[in-house]
Amino acid sequence: MFWCKDNAGSPPLSQFIDATDDIVSARSLSLCSSAEARALVPYEIAVRMHALPLSINGKDQKRTLFVAADYEDAAEKLRELQFATQLQVKLIKVSYGTVLEAIFLAYRGSEQKLASAARELPMQRETGRRIDAPVSIFEGQGSICAFLSTLIEYAVARHASDIHLIPANDGTLLKLRIDGDLHIHESPLGNSQSHAQIIRRLKVLSKLDVSKHDCPQDGAFRLALHHGTFHLRLSILPTLHGEKAVLRILGQNHYPTIASLGFSAPVERALQSMLQEQEGLVLFIGATGSGKTTSMYSMIQESALRGLNVCTVEDPIEIELPCASQSQVNLHQGLDYASCLRAVLRQDPDVILVGELRDGPSAMAAVQAALTGHLVLSTLHAASADECLGRFESMGVSRSLLHGPLKLIVQQQLLAKLCRCATFDLKASQRTPFEVRKPVGCGQCNGTGYAGRVVLATATTVRGVSRDGVLLTDGRDTAVRAESARALLADGAISWQQYIDVVGASGADS
Ligand SMILES: [Zn+2]
Repeated sequence: MFWCKDNAGSPPLSQFIDATDDIVSARSLSLCSSAEARALVPYEIAVRMHALPLSINGKDQKRTLFVAADYEDAAEKLRELQFATQLQVKLIKVSYGTVLEAIFLAYRGSEQKLASAARELPMQRETGRRIDAPVSIFEGQGSICAFLSTLIEYAVARHASDIHLIPANDGTLLKLRIDGDLHIHESPLGNSQSHAQIIRRLKVLSKLDVSKHDCPQDGAFRLALHHGTFHLRLSILPTLHGEKAVLRILGQNHYPTIASLGFSAPVERALQSMLQEQEGLVLFIGATGSGKTTSMYSMIQESALRGLNVCTVEDPIEIELPCASQSQVNLHQGLDYASCLRAVLRQDPDVILVGELRDGPSAMAAVQAALTGHLVLSTLHAASADECLGRFESMGVSRSLLHGPLKLIVQQQLLAKLCRCATFDLKASQRTPFEVRKPVGCGQCNGTGYAGRVVLATATTVRGVSRDGVLLTDGRDTAVRAESARALLADGAISWQQYIDVVGASGADS
């Protein structure tokens, strides 16, 4: 399925017709849809008919439009498409779910659509530098709104986690973070005057102060898209050339189950067994963007399903959860982590999520909550399980206080996942009893050889803290980490080189 890119001409369709649904992913299918074919069938019609135009083959009277569709009402679809496009039409069978997703990716993830929305941005000088400026915040709203929703759909379709909008001389420089890497859009979008208006519109959506241009601001808003309602968190920062905005796409308000997060069996067992506990502290450590919040949300979601009272204290609230009472830390109003947590404790919670233990009072409050009949989940800035006690000590919480409440430390990181185009790695496979794969690169992974990410985690079960302040564990976490990495290697999710990076050259053959 990896032979064509957007606009790269006609795919060898015979392969497609024979393809079974589980081979055709929505992403690869979307890449086979040419702009020429899509121009004949508007998005709304494609969605209504569950049909994605792929390519136009042949000449003159024999011009044929190939369309991927589910086979429901095939005869009617053929008639309608032939009438609408005045071409011969051939249908290629794809499952309902795949085609709907592919339609969204092809139409909304298209460069051309984003570029044309950017061309519509108004040439209008931003005059909102004073509170009493006589410019309505709704001026130019139509094209700005259209541009923003096109941009956000484009980013979602490309599986981006963050959208960076950076002021440039001749418009807005766009960067997207996809699978952890920052991708820079070739040329700035819009014009010299549209950037300030885009920022202004984002501020209005997030209920921020549109009159302030010289201080950082944070907000959030929700947006209904094809896939459902998305939550977006906005951060504005003044820079030398104007305000820069970063939008984090937080996805929909339900979270994957623990079982579907892709943890190895020992880590999943450790998390599940913590959910049976009534008190204790579970710490998640790992770099920013390693999926710690997702893991915590999955845990509290499962607690809530069991009828427990779940409360969170966050800064900021990453995503709205229907299953929990969420409280936002608000430093301007004197509501820091510790005081927010004390207030939450009076709400009779069973499970508490504390966004981060970042100072002495919040760490102390969390430890005390964990000692008094609450299951507390939080994150800590530490590089390893052993480092955690030192971190608590530096925040003024003595090591001995953690003997008892600290139950589990989960360390996690995300690794780039091999794309389906990966191929057999003969050299590495000779060193293992299973088949190892290596990266290649195709249209689907932008030639990188990797698409998506997999989680590598270790769970350290804490038995206590010794008299001289050493963490007492079952000591298996290094072994478990190597074991998990080996399982990913055997699954074909990571390459030999990634495996070596995790376990070290000496650990590879053990
Ligand atoms: Zn690939």
